[in-house]
Amino acid sequence: MSDTATASDSAVEQTLPYYEPVGSECALFEQAYQQRLPLLLKGPTGCGKTRFVSHMAAKLGRPLFTVSCHDDLTAADLTGRYLLQGGETRWVDGPLTRAVREGGICYLDEVVEARKDVTVVLHPLTDDRRLLPLERTGELLEAPDDFMLVVSYNPGYQHILKSLKPSTRQRFVAMSFDFPPPKAECEIVARESGLAYDRCAALVNLASRLRAMKGQDLEEGVSTRLLVYCATLIAAGMPILEATQATLVEPLSDDQDVQEGLLESIKATF
Ligand code: ADP
Repeated sequence: MSDTATASDSAVEQTLPYYEPVGSECALFEQAYQQRLPLLLKGPTGCGKTRFVSHMAAKLGRPLFTVSCHDDLTAADLTGRYLLQGGETRWVDGPLTRAVREGGICYLDEVVEARKDVTVVLHPLTDDRRLLPLERTGELLEAPDDFMLVVSYNPGYQHILKSLKPSTRQRFVAMSFDFPPPKAECEIVARESGLAYDRCAALVNLASRLRAMKGQDLEEGVSTRLLVYCATLIAAGMPILEATQATLVEPLSDDQDVQEGLLESIKATF
């Protein structure tokens, strides 16, 4: 009996999207899920927020509905709309409605980008009522216990017109993400790219120097995602300077002086 349990547990482990924890974020996520509280993840792009959510959704055995928000995204894109299908008009649920009906996790990435009417839908879902009113169908859905709302945003790019209002953000349990500490980041980059650990360590070391340039000339520091790209290209046989130029210089800035500054740092490392 216990053998079966162990075998199926390890099968679940194997199908989990790989996520390297950097603190107690997994426990906090689980608590928020169990207590039916919505969660807000803050942090720079490419630092592991999306991977974290897919890992946790798989761990909790819930379907995940991910929406990358953009400035044309409206409440109807989340809730659903009537569509003409085969000569008939049919209501089609949006991802938020599906997550509520099916008891899943709805992840709204970069939620501040969305249109303002989205907050009107989120408010009744993020207090103890946990309701989703669908005006167009006349339904009032009550979220089941296994529904969870997770949103993220990057405080780095916020300008005054696009930040979460206190009345919205104070409805969420929140946690901050940042680039993983060096040891964890080496582990992640090595595991994701297949490049040897010590070569990844050199890249992580370089990243910390490039990140120190943030603010002076750069809007954002090099992300873990870009480090994984860089290591992947190197593992595939690309010369280091070419790989770093394509992943750690070009995506970061269009300014020639800034690019030269980054390249100098890179050449000093390799
Ligand atoms: P974000 O959603 O914060 O923009 P992602 O979750 O898409 O970033 O992370 C980008 C990439 O970085 C992932 O695809 C993964 O390769 C890697 N990554 C970052 N942090 C972690 C982590 N803690 N564990 C595993 N992979 C990570």
